[in-house]
Amino acid sequence: MSFFLKIWDQICAFTLEYIVQPILGMGIKDVIDILILAVVLYQLYRFFRDRRAGRVLIGLGAVVVVSLLVSLFELSALSYIVRLFAASAFFCVIVIFQPEIRDALERLGNLTVLNPRSNSLPRKKMNLAKSVADETVDAVMVMSQNKTGALIVFEGMTKLGDYIHTGKPVDARVTSKLLQNIFFAPAPLHDGALIIRDMRIYAASCVLPSSTRKSVDFGSLGTRHRAAVGVTEVSDALVVVVSEQTGTVSVAQDGKLLRNVDGKTLCDILMTYMAGSVYLRHKRANMRKEYLEMMENIARVDPPVAPKDKSEAVEKEFEKMVGNVTETETDATLDESNAAPANAPSESKKSDEPTDQEI
Ligand code: ATP
Ligand code: MG
Repeated sequence: MSFFLKIWDQICAFTLEYIVQPILGMGIKDVIDILILAVVLYQLYRFFRDRRAGRVLIGLGAVVVVSLLVSLFELSALSYIVRLFAASAFFCVIVIFQPEIRDALERLGNLTVLNPRSNSLPRKKMNLAKSVADETVDAVMVMSQNKTGALIVFEGMTKLGDYIHTGKPVDARVTSKLLQNIFFAPAPLHDGALIIRDMRIYAASCVLPSSTRKSVDFGSLGTRHRAAVGVTEVSDALVVVVSEQTGTVSVAQDGKLLRNVDGKTLCDILMTYMAGSVYLRHKRANMRKEYLEMMENIARVDPPVAPKDKSEAVEKEFEKMVGNVTETETDATLDESNAAPANAPSESKKSDEPTDQEI
């Protein structure tokens, strides 16, 4: 009994020292501190959730819980082992999470807030981006129809030198014909990925890392699509894939794969990727212009007219459509239409056929 009372005392002392007292002595600075920590922890949770390291993190959490219990119960042998582990925990964490830490720091470095210039593109570059997007879309659509397999990587801010070195340097302008030529099956550079850097074809026949995430359902998709997703898991690149088997076009970004992309959507995706908010602003302005023009045209087609003028206008439109009909013909047609419902077999057709009397 006294053992449990001792534990209860320990729990109370712990709660008082680490929970109640800090809450009572909290100021506005502490609230901000906690909020920032909460955001960071939530982002870390989201980051680790669908990664293999997430499992490792749960394991580490279990170790921390065990070490707390050990110190609470004052188990000396176990606490010695835990202390040994704690001394090297920092280095263990760095070694275990090396890829994730690198990925996270890269993402931090790629944040738009830290790269304000990435959101603006001079007009000349904007035109170049449009040309690159158009040429790529053209090539992709042709390759999709011909079922030519293709893997096109648009390098972002994360440099892809590691993969560029596995391929062959090209350094050429992005044109539809050249893209088709490179991926044309017997051509020497058709195998592997093509990398576009600074809106130029920089290298071809490159080997990309394969996707390691179990959360992406690849179904019947093979290594090309896995490689497309794989490179976007370790960088901020955008990848366009054409399936050799089905001809479908897919786009990979941020570890996700968007399938069955049509030409117009692909152009929008590429332009948004290369020209960012400049393109979106430009597109919004264009859409607004198109909308205003459309409304203007509608107003012109249906001008406000007086009822009498309107009926005349309608008659004229009708004459234009049906031709010039005489009054008697109109009456006869009206009589016929009164006699039979509109979807009944045409009487006029019947009257063309010779009747018994006429024979
Ligand atoms: P498809 O629908 O075109 O058949 P898939 O996803 O089923 O695509 P595979 O049939 O395995 O993939 O395609 C193999 C081709 O994909 C290879 O010949 C090569 O050109 C390309 N490829 C596969 N893995 C990689 C990689 N890691 N890096 C670059 N290219 C790759
Ligand atoms: Mg295949």
